[in-house]
Amino acid sequence: MPVGYGKKIREAVMESRKKAHSRYTCPSCSRLSVKRQSHGVWECGKCHSKFASGAYEFGR
Ligand SMILES: [Zn+2]
Repeated sequence: MPVGYGKKIREAVMESRKKAHSRYTCPSCSRLSVKRQSHGVWECGKCHSKFASGAYEFGR
């Protein structure tokens, strides 16, 4: 295993966790209130619209 391999994996995991917990702009009401509900399900906290999207990142 190359030196630093494990560290890169950890950073990638942390990066995807950060994205999973960040908010995204709602395509419906344009407010920054879309949060992940579960794998691939995102919900806007303002207009309560639900969207199917990427498991860790909205818009994919
Ligand atoms: Zn909304």
